[in-house]
Amino acid sequence: MSEEHVSMWKHLGLNLTAHDALLKVLGDAYTDIYLAQKQRPDGMAYFDFVMSEVHGLRIKELLDEKEQGRKIIGSYCVFVPEEITLAANATLVGLCSGADFAMEEVEKYLPRNTCALIKSALGFKLGKVCPYLESADMVVGENTCDGKKKAYESLGPLLDNLYVMDLPQVKSDQGRTLLRSEYERFKVAVQDLTSVTITHESLKKAIQTVNAKRMALHRLARLRKADPVPISGLDALLANQVSFYDNPARFTESLNKICDELEKRIAANQGVSPKKNPRILMAGCPMAVPNWKLPWIVETSGAVIVGEESCVGERGIRNLTDDTGTTVDELMDAITDRYFKVDCAIFTPNSDRLNHIEEMAKDYQADGVIHYGLQFCQPYTMEAIPVENALDTKGIPSLRIETDYGMEDAGQLKTRIEAFIEMLK
Ligand code: SF4
Ligand code: SF4
Repeated sequence: MSEEHVSMWKHLGLNLTAHDALLKVLGDAYTDIYLAQKQRPDGMAYFDFVMSEVHGLRIKELLDEKEQGRKIIGSYCVFVPEEITLAANATLVGLCSGADFAMEEVEKYLPRNTCALIKSALGFKLGKVCPYLESADMVVGENTCDGKKKAYESLGPLLDNLYVMDLPQVKSDQGRTLLRSEYERFKVAVQDLTSVTITHESLKKAIQTVNAKRMALHRLARLRKADPVPISGLDALLANQVSFYDNPARFTESLNKICDELEKRIAANQGVSPKKNPRILMAGCPMAVPNWKLPWIVETSGAVIVGEESCVGERGIRNLTDDTGTTVDELMDAITDRYFKVDCAIFTPNSDRLNHIEEMAKDYQADGVIHYGLQFCQPYTMEAIPVENALDTKGIPSLRIETDYGMEDAGQLKTRIEAFIEMLK
């Protein structure tokens, strides 16, 4: 790592020893899981580079943007509209954390039986290892599940810039009204932060930029419907994960290049996994970097993942925002309508999600569904039961997995997953 990077991290107040340890774990996992794959598309070299510089060049870019007066906003959830931040000349970065860190410290703030994702978010702050978090001029917390809501009460005093957004839990007219007013309040807060007034033109342009990114991800998703599938689930997951950190225009261009390559592979009947290997749809909790454990186990056990029903996947990107409104208010309405369709398990009832999983299993020609719930995540582990029942009535085999970020259960998971895959064959 360059001296310039080290001095940048020092300047951000990172704990350099702990940060080195994190980069080592990240680098080793990436080599063992990603670089060990065979027949990866050449275009994935872009994502390899992005990951090798995820705490380096990308942070430098963000700090350069800050020097030029641009603000950085961090978010933990796909309900925070990137359109609004871009329209006010701010950059949105995902902060969702996918690794355990500073757990002893974390458990002074949160009970042990809190989901790994929430613990990780707090651990990255307490361990001072996340340059995105330390670069952010505003961090947005959202009232989704109870765990996150209460954790923001502990995180707030550790940050000087936490903004809490309320969210509905029911898809009713009142729920939509709440979301609309919270997005309005967020728009005002972002304008205050950036001193930039959002105009019809800037909001429309921002919507188009984010739509283009989502369309490239839709294109990737569509190409995974081919049999044999031209890209691994691990690589497709990585593209979705990087979409939360990268410059949106550059990301869109790079992903579209990979899609061009995948189209050629499909035309040549070239796949990453033999046709006989079962096709798996993953459904459930989001997988943030570097949470690659489960897909890695699945894809080294004789199956291939063809889709993710997840916020780092189709739940997060599936709908576009209508950009035809002629006023800021109309565009804000369209943004509300788009996000109100996100079928997170915090909603009750949430039958849309059950229908969507069934639809995805059919569309992606999945032989089976693996439902991934993070241990202690009530919304998703509870919803896993109706999901399993709904799939059962349609004759779609499924497997319910509950796990965390540790590797202790990797052997046991592999045994269960191999048995499931064998059964699908
Ligand atoms: S699962 Fe729910 S709380 Fe988590 S990122 Fe998605 S929408 Fe937000
Ligand atoms: S994984 Fe579950 S418990 Fe954890 S933050 Fe997401 S919804 Fe909340």
